[in-house]
Amino acid sequence: MGNLLIIDSGHNEYVKGKESPDKSLREWKFNNSMQYKLANRLKSLNIDYYMTNPYPQGKDEIGLITRCNKANSYWKNQGKPNCLFLSIHANAYKEWSSARGVEVFTCKNCSSNSTKASRLICNSIYNGVKNNIDKGFINRGSKIEDFTVISKTNMPAVLVEYGFYTNKLDLEILKHKQDELVEYTLDGICSYFGVNYSSEEKYANGNYNKKAKTTENLNVRKGRGTNYDIVSTIPKGSSINVNYCLNNWFSTYDLGTLGYVSGDYIKFL
Ligand SMILES: [Zn+2]
Repeated sequence: MGNLLIIDSGHNEYVKGKESPDKSLREWKFNNSMQYKLANRLKSLNIDYYMTNPYPQGKDEIGLITRCNKANSYWKNQGKPNCLFLSIHANAYKEWSSARGVEVFTCKNCSSNSTKASRLICNSIYNGVKNNIDKGFINRGSKIEDFTVISKTNMPAVLVEYGFYTNKLDLEILKHKQDELVEYTLDGICSYFGVNYSSEEKYANGNYNKKAKTTENLNVRKGRGTNYDIVSTIPKGSSINVNYCLNNWFSTYDLGTLGYVSGDYIKFL
């Protein structure tokens, strides 16, 4: 049985407040953006996922207990696989205050697996930001608090506060470094599940002229980008000859005419 990540995106659009003092970021938007970026990457890491709050747009809060119940019943229906519940949030303190950094919560009397996940994810996010983005980032550490979503869920559960949208330096990270935050989080999640973490694969520009296998149903397009028309779709698991790669898009002549495919959905044989 595989590993399952239950993603819990905090807050819905009609929540009051919860935005940066300059109104450039609302917390629910950050959380929602992060949940989809995470989900998109989990496939290639062989981790299944379920979202308790997939559509926060145009809605009032759906209720914390509702989200717990959704998580608990999904997990049970799946036969209780190896699982982690991850609630996504961003933090707030006084307007433009100096409080900043990442902290990850577990509930009182939580399982040792929750504690383990909390430490791994907190350290991974902290080290990633400190080493690659901002040396002044702060590790506020693993903390204990009986938040509903992590105390009423039946599986190991953590709540991540990625940084403070009331701090100018953290706000920049929350707005512009989401892909990086996702990778650091995944690194921690993979350590927790004991699976290999590999960062998103991007191919170098150049001539390949090699055979590859499609890892999904693959669209062949008229140009290098999803904004170009689809010429044809090659089924998942087919083999395909790819030629020149530019910005992760390969040219191919397999359809008898020039077409382009994304490098995200092929694997070289
Ligand atoms: Zn929140």
